[in-house]
Amino acid sequence: MSNTALDILRHTFGYDAFRGQQQAIIDELVAGRDALVIMPTGGGKSLCYQIPALIRDGVGVVISPLIALMQDQVEALHQLGIRAGFLNSSQDWQTQQAVIQQLQQGQLDLLYIAPERLIQPHCLQLLQQIPVALFAIDEAHCVSQWGHDFRADYLSLDLLQREFPAVPRIALTATADDRTRQEIIERLQLAQARHFIAGFDRPNIQYRIDNKNQVRRQLLQFIRNEHLNDAGIVYCLSRKRVEETAAFLSDQGLTALPYHAGLPQALRQHNQQRFLREDSIIMVATIAFGMGIDKPDVRFVAHIDMPKSLESYYQETGRAGRDGAPATAWMAYGLQDAIQLRQMLDASDGSDEHKRVERYRLDAMLGLCEITSCRRQALLHYFGDQAADHCGNCDTCLNPVDTWDGTVAAQKALSCIFRTGQRFGVAHLIDVLRGKPTEKIQQHRHDTLSTFGIGDELDEKQWRSVFRQLVARGFVGVDTAGFGALTLQEKSRPLLRGETALRLRHEPADVPRQRYRSNKQQKALQNDQDRALWQALRDCRRELADEHGIPPYRVFSDVTLMGILETRPQNLASMLAISGIGDVKLEHFGQAFLDVVREFDRDRRA
Ligand code: ADP
Ligand code: ZN
Repeated sequence: MSNTALDILRHTFGYDAFRGQQQAIIDELVAGRDALVIMPTGGGKSLCYQIPALIRDGVGVVISPLIALMQDQVEALHQLGIRAGFLNSSQDWQTQQAVIQQLQQGQLDLLYIAPERLIQPHCLQLLQQIPVALFAIDEAHCVSQWGHDFRADYLSLDLLQREFPAVPRIALTATADDRTRQEIIERLQLAQARHFIAGFDRPNIQYRIDNKNQVRRQLLQFIRNEHLNDAGIVYCLSRKRVEETAAFLSDQGLTALPYHAGLPQALRQHNQQRFLREDSIIMVATIAFGMGIDKPDVRFVAHIDMPKSLESYYQETGRAGRDGAPATAWMAYGLQDAIQLRQMLDASDGSDEHKRVERYRLDAMLGLCEITSCRRQALLHYFGDQAADHCGNCDTCLNPVDTWDGTVAAQKALSCIFRTGQRFGVAHLIDVLRGKPTEKIQQHRHDTLSTFGIGDELDEKQWRSVFRQLVARGFVGVDTAGFGALTLQEKSRPLLRGETALRLRHEPADVPRQRYRSNKQQKALQNDQDRALWQALRDCRRELADEHGIPPYRVFSDVTLMGILETRPQNLASMLAISGIGDVKLEHFGQAFLDVVREFDRDRRA
């Protein structure tokens, strides 16, 4: 049995080994038993039902709420030579009839279908009449009434067990808190299912958080240095910022498109389509963008404003690198982010309980920004996962942060807040500390305070860093009136009295960029030759994609392209060893890429 699965993995999908628990999950279904699979995005969930559907008799029925993705998913299977179809409300009657006929004649191995469609009596009747290999319930967290993605139709899916008791079912999701998991088991009648629960880690994503100073310039530098010609998403907090940032990047010669809920539907649609179909578009967006976007080759996600929680941060950064190739999650964060989010939270209405939860979430987010240990470890711990101390692929691992004894500086800052009556913002407080005789200081006679001029051992930037860390760590609050005045929190008392010490982060001076060259570049794109070949391979991929009317990543993924670059195959047979090249793709696309490599080698010799 396992041999068959491995054969299909190699010949049809072009991969040489199963990942994680894939094999065990496949075996379970092939044996006719149910499974519950919780695996992070990019973990390889699809193979877990696609391969058993090919092995078992009959059609594998995949239930998914994401109608917009079905066509693409089915096209991808066609590219591999797999007989697949879909049924949903976007098709006309004739097309639907044709699919139904294919089903009746046993010509489909996989059928994608929306839940509301599946539960219609005539559809169930149809499926009763033909052999069904399995039911795969994708995005299974949609049964959870507490989640954001709840779909009422998912609640009816418990009928599958009653109507098709002999057909194995597999439920899959990347959302994994305990409550959701319990709801899936209960509502989908999966008490008998074996559980396959993988961790949350996304090892190919490099997590980095920089200090914000001139954020657009920093963003531009990040893209130019590390992700030129790559597809990426830049998240901003407001619509205005989306438009300004997209315009700025476009002025700098990049292809950046805006996306937010305030744009006309048609334009949004158009921009999204270009992002999906073209090779190197940067989408500048509010959080309105991303749900149901299944683009595997997003190479970076940048946040130029801080998200409100680690939940949002992890979900948004998780859209990078679904194909498993190296990707970067980069964020710029500064004092103003900490102040603004604290302010917004305090001023928001909502019950005390709600605010308490939100405050906890915000603290965790700010905590991630300020830690001096491994970012990945902190993220995974937050989500209840185990993690090593040192991941080697985040900024603090790659470029360890020093700390310094900030006790005295913090005391000076705190007493300055106190002496000025807890009515002033950071800029003024720093002027007082540094003894700057500004008009405002004279007006309020702050030059007579004992804290005037006691802090000239630090420059302005360093003081901002001190204040940022005090706000982020909850020693200092922000007024809710909207003027950004800093106030003392209960927590600061022992610090002011000298009963506790405080260590602060040293702001790393501008880190040498080479440190952060993404793994992709470290591995292969080290010299001009490699870069030229990479470009040639990408051009070839785009031409083939245009010719076939599919997105470039459907021809070959970045991982596969990198495999070609690294092995420089000299004949078709040796191409089969590259990950992602199976029999059918080799036949369709192999020769074209072989020609590119050969021509390149010839030019180099000449
Ligand atoms: P998920 O649905 O869990 O987000 P996918 O099923 O889309 O993940 O798989 C993510 C990527 O990993 C895809 O490009 C897929 O082809 C690839 N992949 C899956 N399984 C393997 C494997 N065993 N070996 C190599 N690549 C794999
Ligand atoms: Zn790390």
